Parts: sequence; C-alpha cells; structure tokens
Amino acid sequence: MHDLRISLLDQCNFRCPYCMPETEFHADFEFLKRQDRLSHDEILKVARVAAGLGVSKLRLTGGEPLLDKKITELIGGLASLPGVDDLALTTNGMLLGPMAEHLAEAGLHRVTVSLDSLDEDIFRRMSGGRGDLATVLGGIAAAEEAGLAPIKINVVVQHGVNDHTVLDLLEHFRGTGHIVRLIEFMDVGNRNGWRLDRVVPSRVLLEKIQERWPLRRADKNYPGEVARRYQYLDGAGEIGFISSVTEPFCGDCSRARLSADGVLYTCLFASKGTDLRELLRNHADDVELADVLSRIWLQRADRYSELRRPELAEAHVLRKVEMYRIGG
Ligand code: SAM
Repeated sequence: MHDLRISLLDQCNFRCPYCMPETEFHADFEFLKRQDRLSHDEILKVARVAAGLGVSKLRLTGGEPLLDKKITELIGGLASLPGVDDLALTTNGMLLGPMAEHLAEAGLHRVTVSLDSLDEDIFRRMSGGRGDLATVLGGIAAAEEAGLAPIKINVVVQHGVNDHTVLDLLEHFRGTGHIVRLIEFMDVGNRNGWRLDRVVPSRVLLEKIQERWPLRRADKNYPGEVARRYQYLDGAGEIGFISSVTEPFCGDCSRARLSADGVLYTCLFASKGTDLRELLRNHADDVELADVLSRIWLQRADRYSELRRPELAEAHVLRKVEMYRIGG
C-alpha cells in the first residue's frame, strides 16, 4: 500500500448524474452526521500509522473536500507527517479560487480538478445544474498561481453526453502543463445508472485524438500508476487514460481508500471494508492500528475490474460502496 485516499465527507455541492444523481441524492437525503464522520485527529492518526507502514502518497477527496471548513488545518497536519512526499486533493473546483493559496501555504502539493466539458451547457448538465464553468476555470488558474502543480484535469467521458467535446477540452489545455485524464465511465456504486453503452473505450478516444495530434506512449511515473500516459509529439504536454472498464489494472493497484465514516476499502468497487472508526474510538494504539492495516493489505484479493461482468454491473446486483462515500 503506497497510496491512501481519504474521503473527508460524503456531501457535495454538485449532483453529477454519473456519481450523485439528484433523483437519489435529493434535499431529504441523509448524509453522514458530524459525529459519524472521522474527526481530523482520527484521520491524522490513520494517516500517520499508514505512513509508518510505507504509504507515501495521500489524496483528499469526498464528496467535495473543500466543503470541509477546517481543511487547511488538516492539510498542515498531514503535510508534516514523516514519509508523506505527495499530498494531493481532488475537487470539482467550485470553491478552489479563493482557497488555492491557503491550501498551498498549508502544505498541499497539487490538485486534480474534475471538469467534464468546456461546453457550458454540457458542463452544467454534468454537474447536475450546479457548476459554473468560469468559476471552475478561475479555480484552476488560482491553483496554478499558487503552485499546486502539475494540475490534473479529470474528465469522465460518456458516449452521447460529452464525448464530442473532448477534443476542444484537450485543445484548451494543450501547452499549459496541465494533464488532462480521460476516464471511462465506471460502474462505481449502485446508484449512478451505469450502462456499458455509455462507456467510451479509451482506445476509441485515443484513435480520434491521434488523428489530430500524434501521441507517443510514455512510461509510468511509478509502479501502480493507473493512468496510461501519452505525450503529444509536438511537445504540447501530456494526457492520460484511465480505463478501468476496458483495460483493468487490478494487478498493479497499490491504493487503499478510507471512507468519510472510517471504513477502509482496498478497492473502489468493494462491497465490504474494515471499520477503523470503531477501533479508533475504542482507543486502539498505533501498534494495534498498524497491525490491522498491514493485515488488511496483505489479505486483500480484490480483482473487481478484471472480473467485471457488464451484465451484472448493469443489473446493479452487487452491492458496492458508493463513490460519494469513498471518493474517486
Ligand atoms: N468532488 C470531488 C470532485 O468532483 O473531483 C471529489 C470526489 S469525485 C467522486 C472524484 C472523481 O471521481 C471525480 O473526478 C469524478 O469525476 C470521478 N467519478 C465519479 N463518478 C464516476 C464514475 N461513475 N466513473 C468515473 N469517474 C467517476
């Protein structure tokens, strides 16, 4: 385990139909109560013990992590943990503009901003009517200014929804140093209405992009990196593909995910995890916690993406943890 993703809260200011559709996550939806979420001290304790076991990359996610009012204090604590050399955050960018500098000052290294299209109407629809394109672009500019680089831009590509706007988006970010990552629409959770015919296989996109801008494959930055990296031959930078549906990468995975309510999962598509909150609230010491974390990691046998059967995923018969609980 090298990479721990920490979901700070399950609430979000967007309602992306592929993640938290408004029909399911409506005004009466019951999100976790404050006391059910891990406190920052509890998160710091898990992260410290995980770092002692070799975790060097931490990513804060959610829900929308920037809705956490005290996130800068948490970042300060996480940044000072020995062994952590990469501290990142995934955000929809709506609240990033005014916060970017404070996040960087607190010790955050870089951000990933989710942005599915530069077409205003499509973007708005894909954020569940809540996103404002200019605000998100302003957030990206502020992050750049604050040195939270390299900035990654996550794009979930859906057939017939935003796939025809991908080239425009790439054109916009070419030459900026930001790395666009094209993500296949995944069957995370059970509420996002996943359908195989909405998935655009990365190889199809790759061909389309190559016709416009020739690319060459680049090596992984580190073992276990899930994005396949490509560089523009004309030197305009790098893009990546995350192809969990058509080219699964379970074998390489070195990630664990801590949900907002303190359950540790070893797979994005897991149905079961290990409740660390109980352990933390029963005053487990570092040794006990380290023991549990290493046991979980050694015993993991998740190969969901490699074994995925689309007909089962479409029928939503496997009860998987929801994305809004464990983040991306
Ligand atoms: N709210 C933050 C954001 O929007 O980036 C962090 C949480 S969000 C769940 C993390 C990432 O998961 C986003 O980039 C989002 O696009 C991606 N995601 C959510 N549902 C997905 C799905 N069904 N398939 C692929 N990616 C998905």
